[in-house]
Amino acid sequence: MIDLHSHTDQSDGSLTPQELVQEACRIGLEALAISDHDTLAGYDMAEAVAAEMGLELLCAIELSSRPAQQAGERRPPSIHLLGYFPESAPTRDFRHWLRTQQDGRRRRNLALVSKLQSLGVVITLDEVQSVGRNLTGRPHFAQVLERKGYVRSRQEAFDLYLADHAQAAVERDEPTPEEAIRRIRAAGGLPVVAHPCRLPQRDSASLAALLERWVDVGLEGIEVYYSEHTAEQMELYARLARRMGLAVTGGSDFHGATKPGIALGTGRNGALRVPYTVLEDMKTAHLAMRKAS
Ligand code: AMP
Ligand code: ZN
Ligand code: FE
Ligand code: FE
Repeated sequence: MIDLHSHTDQSDGSLTPQELVQEACRIGLEALAISDHDTLAGYDMAEAVAAEMGLELLCAIELSSRPAQQAGERRPPSIHLLGYFPESAPTRDFRHWLRTQQDGRRRRNLALVSKLQSLGVVITLDEVQSVGRNLTGRPHFAQVLERKGYVRSRQEAFDLYLADHAQAAVERDEPTPEEAIRRIRAAGGLPVVAHPCRLPQRDSASLAALLERWVDVGLEGIEVYYSEHTAEQMELYARLARRMGLAVTGGSDFHGATKPGIALGTGRNGALRVPYTVLEDMKTAHLAMRKAS
């Protein structure tokens, strides 16, 4: 069993990179990919421990992206793209670009603090950054709002203040999905659409049309196995993958205590199992696509 989708406390997970590697070894994973949001820091920190413990660790990332807003329409929902780097480390250019993304997040966080303050919420950037550190995001704001008693739950923090269309919403510079795909490709990675169950396109035809557009700019894979996917969804995504020549990936999206109920490797209620062959096939596909391009 492997897990190709997991988060550490370097983004919004609760375990340190070291603890995550230990947990992977404890449950007997054959391979683990750390796919933190918009940062490689967790992977970088886990590399030595994984080597020491004999765990096959893959470098990965989960990029947040957002399609351009059409005139007169609501801001479209965010789309997550996974990037896998099974052979070579991401380029320095890519790391540099990630830092510019972090700067954008910092600017957004500052604006978010001001907006919350203007709504009567007593909160400072330091408070939120002491929770989220180098990748402070909205989930960390939710944590602080809950702790300070402004909301009863983190979900309520989103509903009342932080969600895209809630009263404190602040936009952040995000790449479009096409740009995120291109960036992952240019960095030497394999771009994969994460948890397709969350895409607004649900039926086979509109999903296929969307994927085709992304394949044209370099998409190479689709996350078929996922904690929240039903058997029917997995079947649909696997069928689309075959039809479009996309690599298949899968993982739990483990976040530790931040996402209770999802276990590393086995997902929700122990229902997930991603076989090692998924990783082998992904590596083969990656090599073949590199040769072709
Ligand atoms: P950020 O990258 O800082 O804008 O935060 C994005 C993260 O916030 C997502 O990955 C989700 O975990 C969380 N999130 C965004 N919108 C909602 C929502 N409406 N309800 C719950 N969580 C949300
Ligand atoms: Zn996350
Ligand atoms: Fe995601
Ligand atoms: Fe994730």
